[in-house]
Order: sequence, then C-alpha cells, then structure tokens
Amino acid sequence: MSPSHDNPFLRLSAPGLSELQPYIPGKPISELQRELGIGSAIKLASNENPLGPSPRVAEAILAALPEIGRYPDGGGFELRRVLAGRHGVELEAVTLGNGSNDVLDLVARVFLWPGVEAVFSEHAFAVYPIATQAVGATARVAPARAFGHDLEALRERVTERTRVVFIANPNNPTGTWLRRAELWVFIASLPETVMVVVDEAYTEYVDDPDYPDASRWIHEFPNLIVTRTFSKAYGLAGFRIGYGVSHPQVAELLNRVRQPFNVNSLAQVAALAALEDRAHLQWVIETNRAGMGQLTSGFASLGLESIPSAANFVTVNLARGSGPVYEALLRKGCIARPVTNYGLPNHLRVSIGLADENDRFLTALDEVLGR
Ligand SMILES: *Cc1c(COP(=O)(O)O)cnc(C)c1O
Repeated sequence: MSPSHDNPFLRLSAPGLSELQPYIPGKPISELQRELGIGSAIKLASNENPLGPSPRVAEAILAALPEIGRYPDGGGFELRRVLAGRHGVELEAVTLGNGSNDVLDLVARVFLWPGVEAVFSEHAFAVYPIATQAVGATARVAPARAFGHDLEALRERVTERTRVVFIANPNNPTGTWLRRAELWVFIASLPETVMVVVDEAYTEYVDDPDYPDASRWIHEFPNLIVTRTFSKAYGLAGFRIGYGVSHPQVAELLNRVRQPFNVNSLAQVAALAALEDRAHLQWVIETNRAGMGQLTSGFASLGLESIPSAANFVTVNLARGSGPVYEALLRKGCIARPVTNYGLPNHLRVSIGLADENDRFLTALDEVLGR
C-alpha cells in the first residue's frame, strides 16, 4: 500500500509518521521476470554482492540446521568475540543487529525523540531520515558538496538540540568518501553530547590509503558509533546481519532497546563462516574493482559522467530524467535504481555486477539512450 495523507489512522499514530516517506527497495528480479514473462532479468539495483557469500557459509548453515528448534544465542557471544578481536575492542563494544539498519534504528530509539534533532547530508542514505522521523525527532539536512558530505555545512547545523549526526563513509547513493584527517577533525569538533554514527557499509571495497577505519577511534571519541554490515562485501544481504562498534556504555544503552533475539542463529553462523574466508572476500573486491572499471569506462564512452565511487555501485548522470530510462531498461530486463528520492532526478545508481551483467547493462543503456 502506498503512503496516504488521508489515512484516518494517521491521527492515532506516533508523531513524525505523517511526514515519513517509506524506504523504496530495488525491484526484485522475480517480480520483473513475472511482469515481463522472461527468465533472465539482471538486478544491479540494491548493491548486492553478485558473487554471493563464501561457499563455507552454506556448509556452516547445513551443519547448524539441526539446532534450529532452539532460540539463537541472544548475546551473539561467538560472533561478537571474533568481531571484537578484528576491531581491537572489547566484546562489550560490539552490538549485533538484524542488518546494520537495525543498529541505526537502535541509535535513533536511544538518542532521538520529539524535540531533538539529527543532522545528516543531502543525498545521504534514506534510512537516516526514516529512523529519525519514526521516533518523532527532527531532521536537519546539510547541502552536499560535489555530491559528497560537506563537513563544514554539517557542523553548522549542529546545535544544542542535536543528538545524532549520521555520516555514511562511503555514502550511498553517491559513492563519495571522506579521508582520515577531515573525518577525525570533524568528530573532534563536535560536542561530546552529540553521537556521531559513521556508517561503513562499503568499507571493504575502499581502495584509498587515506580512508579511515573509524572503529579505531571509539575510545578516543566515546560519542562515536561505527556500523558495519555483512550485506555487501560478505554477500549475506538476505540473512540480515550487521553490527555497531561503540564505547561499551553506549552499546549497553543500545542493548536495552534491542530485541533479545534480533539476530537469528543461522545469520550468526553465516557471518562467522564468511569472516573466515578471506580469499573469497579478496575475490569479491577484485571482481568489484574490475567491474567498476568496466562500467565507468562504458559510461564514459556513452558520453555520460559518473560520480567517482569507492563502493560497489556507481551513480551515473543521464543528463535527462531517470524515470523513462529506468522504465525502458526494465523492459530490456535490466533493473537499476533511480535516485530521484535522494534529490538526484537525472542520475541512476548502478550496482557493480559480474562482467557479463555489466556488459548487458551497458548495451541496454546504449540502446535506450538511442545513440
Ligand atoms: C546497504 C547499506 C547498509 C546496509 O544495510 P543492512 O541493514 O546491513 O543490510 C547500511 N548503510 C548504507 C549506507 C547502505 O548503503
């Protein structure tokens, strides 16, 4: 059902819901295939991993299946222990989520309420306004600079009412990223009463020596929360698992509102298996790098500019409204992602696929644009 302002239950609902625009997911392949009556659509629309997870994941899940009648380990002990080791933090610093979206929601429920504010950038990830408005808090949006986060503009919007700043690094849907020095200075400039969320969903893909792992700073900045996910480079989007790294006393608050069994047992097992397979992760990263080159040079030869991206997608300027192009691509069995709802009506976000998918997409785009 689409959101409606004349829904009579709106006046009974929590403050913030009337202005809340629900998240628009990428179109599922099965839906398009059903609509077109074809069997071979490709989806480059949700920044999923085209290689999927490590084969060790399937093995680990099969081995864990006999125990599925039991509740999961609600404390996620083994996975948190391994993650804590990777990040060089104590186990108590790690909060597991049903996807990292869940952790973003926990942050909003703990630190935001009607009358206080969250600050984030124009073109930032759509879950930030949703999490903010769902708890009745007010969003302050800073204009972007060159499609990326303008840290000065964000800083200017921080007031005594600000409780949370959301930063995606790299950002979705633009792929832009912040360097170590500028991000550190920005966090250091904030009052300690402002929680800073650095969302590192695409961290594994970034290939820049100046790109920071902000989880290293949680003791320096007790107001810092870093989120990570298994949905992208680890290929576990369907399982819904992510986590936050923060000061243990911040994690303790997040855990007060967390559902006791928010992360299912197979997801925990899958994440552990995925973490072990470093060779698979490396293959994913290399495949992405090659696909990024293929798509960006393909766009360039179509005369299209794309926003330089450090992630597993690239957002291309079509120099015309994206709607008709998106629809025409669908008819050719190619699902991409319009980003009009992110304030980018002429851009299309394209997730990096396998070589033949990227090829098929570029061919379809060429035909659709009629060059
Ligand atoms: C995809 C994405 C996530 C991951 O969400 P999950 O709930 O972990 O699947 C988080 N943040 C950003 C910016 C993303 O693009």
